[in-house]
Amino acid sequence: MFDVGINGFGTIGRRIATAIQKQKDMWIKGVASTSPSWKTQHAAMNLPFFISLKKYGENDSENFQKSIDSFSNHGIKTKGTIFDLLDDVDLIIDATPKRVGQMNKEKVYSKKNHLHAIFQGGENGEIARITFNALVNYGNGIGEQFIRIPSCNTTAMLRYLKSLKDVAEVDRVFVNLIKRGADPTDHRGGPINDYVPSEIPSHHTEDAISVDPSWEGKLITNSVKVPVTLMHMHNVIANGDFPSRDRILESFYDNPRMIVIGGHDGIPTAAEIFEANKRGDIQQIMILEKTLHLHDNTLIFSVYCHQEADVIPENVDAIRASLGFDDPLESVSRTNKYLELENTKKSLEKSFPVY
Ligand code: NAD
Repeated sequence: MFDVGINGFGTIGRRIATAIQKQKDMWIKGVASTSPSWKTQHAAMNLPFFISLKKYGENDSENFQKSIDSFSNHGIKTKGTIFDLLDDVDLIIDATPKRVGQMNKEKVYSKKNHLHAIFQGGENGEIARITFNALVNYGNGIGEQFIRIPSCNTTAMLRYLKSLKDVAEVDRVFVNLIKRGADPTDHRGGPINDYVPSEIPSHHTEDAISVDPSWEGKLITNSVKVPVTLMHMHNVIANGDFPSRDRILESFYDNPRMIVIGGHDGIPTAAEIFEANKRGDIQQIMILEKTLHLHDNTLIFSVYCHQEADVIPENVDAIRASLGFDDPLESVSRTNKYLELENTKKSLEKSFPVY
């Protein structure tokens, strides 16, 4: 049994906690966060709750005491500090806002020898030797003390590029990422009335290549942020030597972390797919079958990616890899089984069938 802690209990941290609770070979010893809120209230109701600081320095004891009092005034029971939690775990999942993980690595995690840690995509690539995707480079993560899960968009890209690579010789891929402006609960994000383009290439190119170097010189991405909270959308154009359209679709079908969305009438929108999934998280990425066109050596298709959810299975697999579980396929299959990904896949493929 792997003993795990989670530091940061926002959009991603909460979802990772739920996913770990469904696994049979890992156990959450506690979660930590910085200030009282409905999220920390929920955490403390279900799991041992510990306190982290926004910054670490000379007055840590005093600041921890102030924080304990503040949580207590809000009726939230705390079990101790993040350092107490670290004493009890093999691995910490850092799900704090971007760049905070780097501070935690230096000021907190480094205090415990041999502690393993998983970081998220908001951190620079240098935070860990391995940036990880379970279906692409699980083997490189085995026994690694630090692993980084790339952004939700890079995770999505790595999944469909892998399925494409399994059946085709791809010379060049261009991905245009239409990014949601903010998560639904993020009232400070945006834009609310604009387009925010990235430079070319966007950071996703380098990130994907760091996981699968075979895309070097072949992949180029750009992105534009738009006023949507539901999902990201990728528009992909690839050149190369492709098998039939059906064979490509089959390869997408066979990927357990992908769903092929057809539809009775037109192309389903992101909002419709959400409704069909009872507005629940979708941890697989969704290929829109009706957008998939093969014209000579050019392949075109579009994909939805639920930003809050697709990185969750990867975090679960990264825990196993980091702590030495050396069977990638078994890890992926356990994660998929306990997260019931097959049910989501079956249900959405039935709601939006391919004729
Ligand atoms: P969030 O703001 O929703 O949650 C972060 C949580 O960490 C908050 O509850 C905050 O109170 C807490 N926190 C802040 N400082 C802390 C500290 N010093 N110690 C402990 N806890 C602290 O952020 P998020 O969206 O969950 O993002 C977390 C990471 O996941 C980021 O690296 C982000 O780039 C990445 N990510 C986010 C998404 C997404 O869609 N939100 C998708 C993929 C990856």
